Amino acid sequence: MVWPVVGHDLGMSTGAPSGRNQIDPFGDGHRIPGHRAATLTGNRDYGDSWIYCDMDPSLALERKYERLFFLDEATALAGGFRPCNRCRRKALETFKECWVEGVDPEHRTAEIDQRLREEGTVRKAERPSDLPIGTMIHFEDEYHLIVDGGMRQWSFTGYGPKVDLPKRRVEVTTPPSTVEALRSGYEVELHPSANA
Ligand SMILES: [Zn+2]
Repeated sequence: MVWPVVGHDLGMSTGAPSGRNQIDPFGDGHRIPGHRAATLTGNRDYGDSWIYCDMDPSLALERKYERLFFLDEATALAGGFRPCNRCRRKALETFKECWVEGVDPEHRTAEIDQRLREEGTVRKAERPSDLPIGTMIHFEDEYHLIVDGGMRQWSFTGYGPKVDLPKRRVEVTTPPSTVEALRSGYEVELHPSANA
C-alpha cells in the first residue's frame, strides 16, 4: 500500500487549512477523505510544540489552527508529537517522568519540544528486538508498530496481523528521545486493531 506523500513541510504552518491533515508515522500530512479510524487529533501551529489531543468535537469549531488526525498515540509520537498539556495533562506528566534527559522540571515541556524539533528526521537503525513496544519502524517501504513478540503493519485505517520481527537492523521512525521514554516505561495507547 503506497500513500501519496503530499506534505514535507515539517514544522511549517501557513495557518490555512491544506486538507493534508492525516498524519503518518513520519509526521507527514496526507489528504485522505474521512478520518474514521483516527483516535486522536492535534496540531503543530504553536511553534515548537507539536501536540496531540483527545477527540473533542468542540475543538472542531476552533479554526485557529489546522486540525490534524492520528490513528493513535504511537502514530503521533512517531511523528514527533507529544501529549497536550491541557487535555492530556496526565499523559504528559508521565511522559515527562519517562523522558531521560535531565532537565529543569520547570522547563521540561519546552525542552522536550526543542529536543524533538532538533531530532527532526534524524533516525537510527536498530535491531527490532531491542526496541520497546509502541515504537514505529520503517521496513520494506511500510511502517510497522513494534508489539509484544512481533510487529504489525501500520495503515491510516488500523494495524495488520502480527508478524515476526525482521532479523536485520531497521530504520526507527519514532524519534530517539521518544524511544528512550518508551524504554523507560511510557505506555502508549494503541488503536484497537493493534490487539485484534
Ligand atoms: Zn489538547
